[in-house]
This record gives sequence, structure tokens and C-alpha cells, in this order.
Amino acid sequence: MGLDFFVKRDDLIDPRFSGNKFRKLYSLFKFNSNDYSKVISYGGAQSNAMLSIAYLAAMKGWEFVYYVKKIPKRLESSPSGNLRRALELNMKLRQIPHSIFYESIEKIRRGISEDEIFIPQGGADPVAAEGVKVLADEIKEWMCCNSIESLSVATPSGTGTTALFLAKYLPESVDVVTTPVVGDEETLRLQWQKLHSEGESLPKILASLKKHPFAKPDIRFLEAWRSLKRSGILFDLIYAPKMWLELEVFYEELKKPVLYIHSGGVSGNESQLQKYRFKGIGE
Ligand SMILES: *Cc1c(COP(=O)(O)O)cnc(C)c1O
Repeated sequence: MGLDFFVKRDDLIDPRFSGNKFRKLYSLFKFNSNDYSKVISYGGAQSNAMLSIAYLAAMKGWEFVYYVKKIPKRLESSPSGNLRRALELNMKLRQIPHSIFYESIEKIRRGISEDEIFIPQGGADPVAAEGVKVLADEIKEWMCCNSIESLSVATPSGTGTTALFLAKYLPESVDVVTTPVVGDEETLRLQWQKLHSEGESLPKILASLKKHPFAKPDIRFLEAWRSLKRSGILFDLIYAPKMWLELEVFYEELKKPVLYIHSGGVSGNESQLQKYRFKGIGE
């Protein structure tokens, strides 16, 4: 792209835990194994959060039950990607029909007992704050060591939890910039309302591209991803490309330097590339 960026390699924290999922689950690592017996969560069948929770549960000896909307027969009979790995870690997959999905989840959430942990979709929970604060502290230390007084920190948003808590814990001189990858600007602001307290700063939303269905193959994303790969870093194919395309558009306006948080998710590329091949995009 010919533009200058710093990249924080959070993807390299641990091969099992996808960058920001490690940050969001951080406080759960410290929970005593014996105090709990089961983790319950829900979301997409190829979710990065799902795989990270599966590793966490396996490490802790907790049962992991994960709810998804009904999945295609093909995926059920031959699971691929993150789903296959999570099942190998003994995750119990439960399917619920679309029409009653969210009401069923709400019932499950209300019914959890003391030795069960309920994690909302994508780890969008106040419990995520602690780990994201550690990330913010690392960024502050890096700024300090390199005499950087102000900068932009970029990270794409699914639930927006990572961007929101980064904005909360980084100083005013830092602009946290993000783009919605799930839904649009409105969806992201609604998500933030659930976790945001009065007076805390919010990330800036970069949204020049039109709303895009989550994880839908798009030749522009594939090309951006390939060009990043050529420049030497392998990113995820769902979140990163949209963020990078927006950074290209808004680069001139951003506070410099720009620090991109690599939030991992590379394990999801296998099933995402399959989708591109299936649709014949970018052959
Ligand atoms: C989950 C994920 C995100 C989104 O994180 P949120 O905190 O839900 O906004 C971004 N990038 C990658 C690679 C992810 O796996």
C-alpha cells in the first residue's frame, strides 16, 4: 500500500488463542479450575472466540457447550476449520432452530448455575475489560519507550469490545479507530451502549465502505489480504481486510503513527478460503 504502519503482533501470543480472544478471556484463565465445571457460549459455527474458549475449557478441564443456529448438513457431517478443531477438543455442539435461537439463549443464560460460566457471543462481556487493559498498558509502555506522545490504534470490530475497552484505557492523546465488520455503524454503537459508561471515550468509526454481510466473500477483501500477505504478515481474512481498506481511505486524516493490532484469527482462514473457492472468487 506504500503507507507506514506499526503492527502489534497479538496473533503471536499463543498458537491456540487468537489474539484479542486471549485478551478477552484473560480473566477466566485465572479462575480456579475446581470452582467451575462448565462453560456455555453461543455464536457462529466458525467463530474464533469459540475455538479459543474450547482451548481454555480443555486446559481447565471444564465441559464446553456451544450453541449455534442450525448448520448445513455438509458442515455437520464433515466439520472443517475452527469447528473441527473445537470438536476435537471435546466441545459439545448444540443446534437450535433460527426462529427460537435468541429466546432459547436467553433462557439458558438465566438458568445457569453457580459452577457454570456463561460467555456472550464473541466474548462481549465486562469480564473482557481486564485483559484488554493489559493490552492498553503494553501500548502505553511502548509509547513511553519510544517517546511517542500520540498515535492512532486500529482494530476491526465484531462485537466492538476490544476497540471500546482500548478507548477506555488508553489516554486522550490516542485515537482508537475501528470499522464495523458485523452489521454497520449503528449496530456497533448499539453494542457499545451495553458496555459503555458515561464519560468514557469512544473509538472513532471509519466507515466509507458499504455495509457488508458478515464473512461474505468479496474480491476487494481477498486482494487486500493477499497484498498484506505479500508485504510479510498473514492476517485473518474476515476482519483485517476491511480495516486495512478503511485505513487506506482515511490515512491522511489519522493521527500518526498508526498502530494496527493484529488480533489473530488466522485459523479461520482455512474455511474462509474454502468459501472463496466455492464461489470461484479470486481464482
Ligand atoms: C474476534 C475478532 C475481532 C473482533 O473483536 P471484537 O472485540 O468482537 O470487536 C477482530 N479481529 C479478529 C481477527 C477477531 O478474531
